[in-house]
Amino acid sequence: MLFVCSLYWLSRFQPCPAITPGLTISHLYGDFYVYATHNVYNGTTFPANSMYMVTSKGVVLFDTPWDTARFQPLLDSIQQRHHTKVIMCIASHFHEDRTGGFDYFRQQGIATRSSTYTKQLCTEHSEKQAAFVLPKTLHS
Ligand SMILES: [Zn+2]
Repeated sequence: MLFVCSLYWLSRFQPCPAITPGLTISHLYGDFYVYATHNVYNGTTFPANSMYMVTSKGVVLFDTPWDTARFQPLLDSIQQRHHTKVIMCIASHFHEDRTGGFDYFRQQGIATRSSTYTKQLCTEHSEKQAAFVLPKTLHS
């Protein structure tokens, strides 16, 4: 690998791109699953753990993958594993590791949601925003 990176560096005169681990999905309990993607922050690779819930109407994602290359692989993996589509994605907070896939998922027909406060913070920090806010009864 070092040899390949060295060749890349010599040929492009730029640093070798960071390689992040792929998508992992593991069963948590009942209809709940944990998925993880990774990204590089300040030169170090970090994991971002998220989850989803399988319902009779489809899958509800909690947060989006941090790694943009894993948006479609996550949807494909869920379809293959559960034979159903993702119908909704709810972000737990405004950071890119939770909302980065909102635009992509919305284009795939998935209802993206967040709290009103998260949507406000997304606006303030120029992060992707949900198409819908959660009803007041679901958050304070
Ligand atoms: Zn975060």
